[in-house]
Amino acid sequence: MNCLFCKIIEKKIPSKIVYEDERVLAFEDINPQSPVHILVIPKKHISTALEIKDEDNELIGYMFQVANKIAKGKNIAERGFRLVLNCNHEAGQTVFHIHLHLLGGRVMHWPPG
Ligand code: 5GP
Ligand code: ZN
Repeated sequence: MNCLFCKIIEKKIPSKIVYEDERVLAFEDINPQSPVHILVIPKKHISTALEIKDEDNELIGYMFQVANKIAKGKNIAERGFRLVLNCNHEAGQTVFHIHLHLLGGRVMHWPPG
């Protein structure tokens, strides 16, 4: 499987790691869209949100807990932040290993582009 984020997990491609444990990895987005832009990914390869199975429910919830912890650590929790998960092409998904975008440090607009 030729997956960019699996290669980042395996450290075959370098990244600026913010948090890591046995289940998830969080690293800085290479093309940040806000002062804080971190990607939280499961170490298990899941290609899109549509592929989330019952057995993944705890893992997916845990990704949100990790994002919350990072947001608090970056002092953006109280100000506010945005968690985004793009699914498939029209939403703008370009890497097919699910990832939660943690965006913050500026005012966000709605609706998103
Ligand atoms: P998507 O568009 O799939 O929701 O998000 C993919 C994200 O991965 C984009 O924000 C993009 O900037 C980021 N990205 C793509 N390639 C790399 C890379 O090699 N390293 C890092 N750190 N981020 C990447
Ligand atoms: Zn992968």
